Amino acid sequence: RKPQHRKGTFTDVPENLLQQVHDIEQQLTVSGDTLKKITEHFITELEKGLSKEGGNIPMLPGWVLDFPTGKEKGDYLAIDLGGTNLRVVLVKLGGNRDFDTTQSKFALPSYMRTATLDQLWDFIAKSLKSFLDEFFPDGVSSPLPLGFTFSYPAFQNSINEGVLKAWTKGFDIDGVEGHDVVPMLQAAIEKYDLPIKVVALINDTTGTLVASMYTDSDAKMGLIFGTGCNGAYYDVVKDVPKLEGLVPDDISPDSPMAINCEYGAFDNEHVALPRTKYDITIDEESPRPGQQAFEKMISGYYLGEILRLILLELAEEKKLIFKDQDLSKLKELFILDTSFPAKIEEDPFENLSDVQELFQTVLGIQTTVPERKIVRRFAELIGERSARLSICGIAAICKKRGYTSANCAADGSVVNKYPGFKERAAKGLRDIFEWETEEDPIKIVAAEDGSGAGAAIIAALTEKRLAAGLS
Ligand code: BGC
Ligand code: MG
Repeated sequence: RKPQHRKGTFTDVPENLLQQVHDIEQQLTVSGDTLKKITEHFITELEKGLSKEGGNIPMLPGWVLDFPTGKEKGDYLAIDLGGTNLRVVLVKLGGNRDFDTTQSKFALPSYMRTATLDQLWDFIAKSLKSFLDEFFPDGVSSPLPLGFTFSYPAFQNSINEGVLKAWTKGFDIDGVEGHDVVPMLQAAIEKYDLPIKVVALINDTTGTLVASMYTDSDAKMGLIFGTGCNGAYYDVVKDVPKLEGLVPDDISPDSPMAINCEYGAFDNEHVALPRTKYDITIDEESPRPGQQAFEKMISGYYLGEILRLILLELAEEKKLIFKDQDLSKLKELFILDTSFPAKIEEDPFENLSDVQELFQTVLGIQTTVPERKIVRRFAELIGERSARLSICGIAAICKKRGYTSANCAADGSVVNKYPGFKERAAKGLRDIFEWETEEDPIKIVAAEDGSGAGAAIIAALTEKRLAAGLS
């Protein structure tokens, strides 16, 4: 079902409502020129992040100091604490650019975003235990090395630590920010007597980068467009000024160094992005106002919320839609996850009957056909803005590193499931670079499994360094 992109010709919409729709269209539309300007500012901010003084974008060294060769081999466990699930994966690296995975998903209970520290680590340890019980009923001969994918900004001075800077994506668990999560995980593992040794802490983007390079030698970036957004690439130790004095002597200045950009924090000072009042409200509603300005405009955790705010304004404040309908559900913060606008855009029917049903079941609201058409236009606008802004990070990294061609390996619910995202993102890149070639030299491609294979490969690279006596 291909989404139709009919730009609003709304013959049956009253004039005052139409005026509002056009106004919102304007606020959410980002021109090619604006994308170019944002990208230029982005490059400056990437550089600032790497400098000694630092900047808004954290640019966190990930201490992955090798490129994967494709020959990495062995059995590894990997866990991924994401926004929605805890994934536990057994990865068998085949040593020939190949791997096999066996995985279980444990849905994070909804209270987990604001649970206590003990609840969080107990949940993880119990999930690991049930995984081992299922797949290793006879136990293991030696402790299994584990790569821990932790998809939040964490400072690292080595591969096996990660001090949480600040929770993102609506997480708000006390006692973790400012602390190293690796010993916490290891302690929970020991509490349950599990034969597991944590060997590496990995950001999901770094895992995506490494897993994708393992199978694709043109991969230059690992990107997540999902609940949150972020990107990783390899820089060179000597080009990262803030590493001066922090790098052990046995690491060459020419060594590669994976950088977890954490560029969801781009423009926290609000100078480059065309923010709307909806974006400002979302920031104020969030548990960490002032942070992740870029992420809050583009990532999956917020797209449904942007739509909700627009609809609420038109229904409640302006009284132009949903007349005589019960708005109590529409008033609930974050009631609409990304699948809501995504499904709206997917509805191929002239009368938008899927949208009708969606509103009924999720919000208890009866909609008219013109209302549904307008809502669908908003979903398009939100998705299009997300895709176009998203690629400014890619463009900036390419320009900074001088990549004239690159495979940008992307994963996440938004890029994989939001209709039209990939095409709109590609169009955004073309608007910035204005290529005249038939094929786009910088492409967004589907990533390999970063938090499974990627974490395992990084764990393997780490063990290899340790065995060779390297830091
Ligand atoms: C986190 C990043 C992560 C991204 C994608 C952001 O909220 O800060 O660490 O890579 O989400 O999961
Ligand atoms: Mg994830």
